[in-house]
Amino acid sequence: MNSNEKGFNTICTHYGELIDTQFKGAISPIYLSTSYAFDGVDEKRYPRYFNTPNQQALSKKIAKLEHAESGLIFGSGMAAISTSLFAFLQQGDHIILQRNLYGGTINLVIEEFKRFGIEHTFVDAKNGNGFEEYIKSNTKVIYIETPSNPLLTVTDIASVTKLAKKHGLMTMIDNTFASPVNQNPILLGVDIVIHSATKYLGGHSDILAGAVVSTEENMQRIFKMAINFGGSLSDFTVWMLERSIKTLGLRVRQQNENAMALAQWLSQHEDVAQVYYPGLESHPDHAVASQQMKAYGGMLSFELKENIDSSLFQKKLQLIKSSMSLAGVESTILSPTLTSHALLTEEERYHQGIRNGLLRFSLGIEEAEDLIEDIEQALRVVKNQQYSVPT
Ligand SMILES: *Cc1c(COP(=O)(O)O)cnc(C)c1O
Repeated sequence: MNSNEKGFNTICTHYGELIDTQFKGAISPIYLSTSYAFDGVDEKRYPRYFNTPNQQALSKKIAKLEHAESGLIFGSGMAAISTSLFAFLQQGDHIILQRNLYGGTINLVIEEFKRFGIEHTFVDAKNGNGFEEYIKSNTKVIYIETPSNPLLTVTDIASVTKLAKKHGLMTMIDNTFASPVNQNPILLGVDIVIHSATKYLGGHSDILAGAVVSTEENMQRIFKMAINFGGSLSDFTVWMLERSIKTLGLRVRQQNENAMALAQWLSQHEDVAQVYYPGLESHPDHAVASQQMKAYGGMLSFELKENIDSSLFQKKLQLIKSSMSLAGVESTILSPTLTSHALLTEEERYHQGIRNGLLRFSLGIEEAEDLIEDIEQALRVVKNQQYSVPT
């Protein structure tokens, strides 16, 4: 299968698959060799060279889903992010990053870049306008992530790439939250698209992986850095990830629908103070999201009214699990204040709009009515406990 015209789910299911010529099995065989005969041709095959049969097949599939020429699979999202950044930045360079980024990316920049003489500026920029004034003569890269965590702010991708082209800068995006189902940044002019495949690409909370896609030329440069950094993914996991991606479209479309249903329901609820979901017209970035996304994704955040204890509410949920990670087929919830953003001061959190009672909700593929019922019963229990008069 290598036609351009196939639809998303067909690519997910078939593109790049390995053919079992020996036994004619229905699925890709898994090749675990770390040692291959050297044919004297172009390249040696070796897992850390990212070129085992399973790695190459899956890279093709992910590149195809993102409309890119080429791709590489990594051992984690952070391996993908760090390798990409270090491939294009060197001593004396400057990078502009959106402030609202995955915590691990922020730590990488704050903790490591200075030692390598790389300058950085974090910018509050929901749309492309915020970035231009920070461009300096040594700026090389603009790095964005949209929708962002946990408030689902949306960065206007096309305006960022337009600005970057004007100044000859490279653009990188963390496309994890949207997934290739909902957003294809290459089509909006982004140079390098990165995924934590631990999230939607994997989708079952059992795989840690990352992916990068771009042009052949850019991927060559990333590849050179990647073999030195050594962040390749085991072929067992590559194979599991291939299997997971077969249902990527089915899963994420259901997650989109659930998120929209729950966002609408929560925003009408008397116990809910605020809902953050780019699919709601009330979301400040709804218009930009509608322009650049096919659907609004499976993540939302919400705040309960101040008189309701949100930690207690979280504990009383039965179906929806408390969990640090996201994007699995099971719905999960967390408090950014207590987990992902716990290291920030309360003031920094408030500056970013993260209130103490905020809950981040990753929608799974369950039936929306069951999720609604779970929230209703948890609210009932919490309100009963809080307001029952002690005897
Ligand atoms: C989880 C995550 C990462 C990091 O991925 P790992 O696979 O945990 O290394 C990067 N970006 C976003 C948006 C994430 O959610």
